[in-house]
Amino acid sequence: MRTCPGLATGACFWGVCRVVERTFFAVKPDGVGRGLVGEVLSRLERKGLRLVGLKLMQVSPDLAQRHYEAHRDKPFFPGLVKFITSGPIVATVWEGRDAIAVVRSLMGATDSAKAAPGTLRGDFALSMGSNLVHGSDSKEAAEREIALFFRPEELVGAARPEESWLYAGE
Ligand code: UDP
Ligand code: MG
Repeated sequence: MRTCPGLATGACFWGVCRVVERTFFAVKPDGVGRGLVGEVLSRLERKGLRLVGLKLMQVSPDLAQRHYEAHRDKPFFPGLVKFITSGPIVATVWEGRDAIAVVRSLMGATDSAKAAPGTLRGDFALSMGSNLVHGSDSKEAAEREIALFFRPEELVGAARPEESWLYAGE
């Protein structure tokens, strides 16, 4: 599979071009602070998703409020903004088949205490607020969040040789 020149999220496999999905994913300050960045990102890599954007960054209160604007009226909003700005995060973009749903399933339930074993939150977290990771929950959210955190030129498609195996038969 290779990236189609004219398609931001396109991919070619054996000459057939199709659109794959992109999603925004972040390791939150607790994950960075606990030294779990490599462990977390390796789960997505091993699943077969393609890393197309990556940065370690400090989130400003303004960016935090825009990122979580859907939760603005929730009681936990002030604490959430405080938490996400409390230390660096690792912001990433991933590409692959059904990337949004796949990443959400790798993350596990929002409340880490209830997250299934085998998921990131299920294996590495216990809290509702400090729950290790963020992932877009819809196509609209993914588009919005990717644009909030990355300029288009910061996203690079790097085909993985084993994608011919990952997508064999499609
Ligand atoms: N959150 C919280 N208390 C709640 C619900 C959510 O502190 O009762 C925080 C938690 O960090 C969560 C984030 O707000 O990850 C966004 O909530 P959402 O419902 O979007 O969960 P997610 O999509 O991260 O699973
Ligand atoms: Mg969410």
